[in-house]
Amino acid sequence: MVRKLLFGLTVLLVAGTALAYAQRDALLGMAIRQRVQQGPDMGFAKDHDGIKVLICGTGSPEVSSARAQACTLVAAGGKLFLFDVGDGSVRSLAASRIPVNDLERVFVTHFHSDHFGDLGVLINAGWIWGRETPLEVQGPVGMAGVIAGYEQAYALDETYRSANMPHLAERRAVARAVPLEIAFAEGARVVRVYDMDGVTIDAAPVAHDPVRPALGYLLQYKGRKLFISGDTEVSPVNLPAMQGADMVVHESYAGHMVRRAIPEMRQLGMEFHARVAERTIPYHADNIALAKQAQAAGVKQLVLTHLIPYPENAVVRAMYTDGMGDHFKGAITVAEDGMVLAF
Ligand SMILES: [Zn+2]
Ligand SMILES: [Zn+2]
Repeated sequence: MVRKLLFGLTVLLVAGTALAYAQRDALLGMAIRQRVQQGPDMGFAKDHDGIKVLICGTGSPEVSSARAQACTLVAAGGKLFLFDVGDGSVRSLAASRIPVNDLERVFVTHFHSDHFGDLGVLINAGWIWGRETPLEVQGPVGMAGVIAGYEQAYALDETYRSANMPHLAERRAVARAVPLEIAFAEGARVVRVYDMDGVTIDAAPVAHDPVRPALGYLLQYKGRKLFISGDTEVSPVNLPAMQGADMVVHESYAGHMVRRAIPEMRQLGMEFHARVAERTIPYHADNIALAKQAQAAGVKQLVLTHLIPYPENAVVRAMYTDGMGDHFKGAITVAEDGMVLAF
């Protein structure tokens, strides 16, 4: 009985393989059609009549194969806004089928490398893959220098590709990045940097000394309010932007874990790592202080990103927010790369 069954399966397998071989051209055609049609589309931006958030990177300066560095994509009013573009962001957006050539604008919070490391890839890929308008990249004063630096870094690439593909040379002028620098008038706390079709975006300095300026962004649409903190300590300067927010995507620092890790590192002779960890304490948002501030500001949902240390498994993830619930009564979400939230 078993032998008969095996014989039957073998015959089926051979017949199937022979058929597939005979039809390989048709199969290749199907595969190609599927691949071509599988491209990115604006579905993410169009299918929700509110604010939608894709956490495209939860990382920190720590280089990781498992997650991208700082990256938050927001859809509102049918448009896509990208906040920070750390290493791995473009790959992460591609994994979520986001059409990176159709971004309305990119916003950079500050010039720590984990917040703009993939900007060159984004600009360059847009040129190569058909972006039809300049890419607006807005950030603190210093933005123009960063863009100019990327242009210089990609200058030879531009020469080679343009020589090989004249259609790229023709489109070079329109597919460039345009830096928009945010200047604050003396004493100004907030600058409106975007106001179109019901979507407004305000920039406000946060507390990330010695990084000056470091900005957070407040996006509002249809009475909904989203604050993206960038990197910041928990500070009263952020209270106005957080006040009554439906969602706050905030950098997060599990101080109780880092403080435990430092003596362990020293015991293992990892003095260099221990020193790095110590220096991160003063300028990141300790989870407990953040929970208290979110409660005081009446935040509805707190989404933790820029996770330090990265909670690598379910157990650590569960302990990552220890104690926060005692102080904050809204929803707490520990973000993951690829997570989508809507409100
Ligand atoms: Zn950072
Ligand atoms: Zn930073």
